[in-house]
Amino acid sequence: MQDDYDVVIVGAGMVGASLACAIAPTNLSIALIESVSPNEDWQPSYDDRGISLSTSSKRVLEHIGVWKDICLHTTPIKKIHVSNQKKFGFTHLAAPEADVPELGHVVIARSLGDALHKKIRQYKNITLLCPAELKDFLRQDSKLSLKVSRSGNIETINTRLLVGADGSRSIVRRLAGIEIKERDFKQTAIVSNLTTQKGNQSVAYERFTSHGPIALLPIDKNRSVLVFTVHSDRENYYLNMSDNQYLKTIEMEFGRRLGKIQKLGERRPYPIFFIEAIQQFQDNLILLGNAAHTLHPNAAQGFNLGLRDVAGLSECIFSGLEKKLSIDDINILKNYLKLRHSDQQRVIEFSNGLATCFYHDSSLFTSITNITMLLFDCIPPFKSSFLKRTMGIAGHQPKLVRGLYL
Ligand SMILES: Cc1cc2nc3c(=O)[nH]c(=O)nc-3n(C[C@H](O)[C@H](O)[C@H](O)COP(=O)(O)OP(=O)(O)OC[C@H]3O[C@@H](n4cnc5c(N)ncnc54)[C@H](O)[C@@H]3O)c2cc1C
Repeated sequence: MQDDYDVVIVGAGMVGASLACAIAPTNLSIALIESVSPNEDWQPSYDDRGISLSTSSKRVLEHIGVWKDICLHTTPIKKIHVSNQKKFGFTHLAAPEADVPELGHVVIARSLGDALHKKIRQYKNITLLCPAELKDFLRQDSKLSLKVSRSGNIETINTRLLVGADGSRSIVRRLAGIEIKERDFKQTAIVSNLTTQKGNQSVAYERFTSHGPIALLPIDKNRSVLVFTVHSDRENYYLNMSDNQYLKTIEMEFGRRLGKIQKLGERRPYPIFFIEAIQQFQDNLILLGNAAHTLHPNAAQGFNLGLRDVAGLSECIFSGLEKKLSIDDINILKNYLKLRHSDQQRVIEFSNGLATCFYHDSSLFTSITNITMLLFDCIPPFKSSFLKRTMGIAGHQPKLVRGLYL
C-alpha cells in the first residue's frame, strides 16, 4: 500500500465521498478511509432514508458527475405544504413562487452512495481503504502520521491534509482535541417508507406537532418517506407497536391527505441532537459535514449544507494550487472558513430556531408562529427570498453552487 497521500479523508459517507470526487480533478493523491462498506446494510450514511436535495446540491452533484447517475432515482418536489397541528397557521411553498421548475429532489441515500462510489472508482488518484478505521494520528513536522486498522493489522499512512468527514462522533475531532457545543433535543426521528392510496403529486408535507415535526417526502408516484419525530422516552413505544397500530397513529396525526396508507416499511430510529465544532480547522486538518455541524433534520439541511461546504473547500483548494500554494498551506483553510462561515451560521440558527419555536407550549409562541406563517403566505417577496435560502442559492455561495467551473 502507498503510505504518503496529499489528502486523507476519513469517512466515505455522503460528504467525504463527495469531497473526494470534487477535488480528484486536481490530481492530488487522495486516500479515503471508511470503516463500513457502502453495500452493508448498517452503513450509517447510505441507508433507506429519503434525502431531500436542494437546488444547490443538485448543482454540485451535477458538477462532480454524479447527478446523471442518480437523476433517474430522484423525485422532484414541486410543492411543500407546511402546517401546525391543531393550530390555524399553515402555508404552501410552490416552485413557481421562486421561479424554478422544482423546489428540490428526494433521493434514497443508498442510491446516492452507489453513484458516489461508482464515480470514486473512476479516479486513479483516489485510493479507497475500506473496511479500514482511523485509530490515531500524530503530528510529525509538517505532516500527520495516521494509524489505520485494516484486516486486523495497524498500518501507518502519512498526509499533509487530513479531512475529518467521519460523522457526528468524529474520531478526527476527538483526537485533535476540538471541543463541541452540543444540544440533545431528546427527540428521535422514526423513518419508514410507505405506500399511499393516492399519488403524492410531488408534494412534500411538513407538519409541526408538540412532539416534533412529521415530514412526508415523495419518493415515487405512490411512495413516500415518513419521518415521524417523537420524544425519545416514547421511542420504544412507537417502535414496538404493531404495523396496524402505527398506521392508525400516523393517520390520526397526519390525516388522510394521501388516502389510506396501504403498506409500511421497516421503522428505523435516529436520535436527534445538534453538534457544532468550536474550531473547524487546525494545521493540516479540517472537519466537514456532520463532524463540523450536525443539525436537527427538521429543515432537511444537514447534507445540503455539507455539500455547499464541499463546494467551498474544493474552490479554495483549486485556487490555492493555482497560486502555487502547497496543499497544507493554512491560508487555504482560512479562506474556506471565510467563504462558508455566514451560510453555516444562518442554517444553524434557522434549524435550531425551528426546533425551539414549533415545540414551545406557550400560547405567545404559538400565536407568533401562526401569525408568521399566515403573513408569510400573504407577502410573496418574503416567501420567494425564504425559498431561495432553503434552496441554498441565496447569499454569497461557492462557484459550484452558482453553476460555475473551478
Ligand atoms: C432522519 C434524518 C433525515 C435526514 N434528512 C436529510 C435531508 O432530507 N436532507 C439533508 O440535507 N440532510 C438530511 N439529514 C442529514 C444527513 O443525513 C447528514 O447531514 C449527512 O449524513 C452527513 O454526512 P457525513 O458524510 O458528514 O456523515 P455520515 O453520514 O455520518 O458519514 C460518516 C462516515 O464516516 C465513517 N466513519 C466514522 N468513523 C470512522 C473511522 N474512525 N474510520 C473510518 N470511517 C469512519 C462512517 O462509517 C460513515 O460512513 C438527515 C438526517 C437524519 C438523521
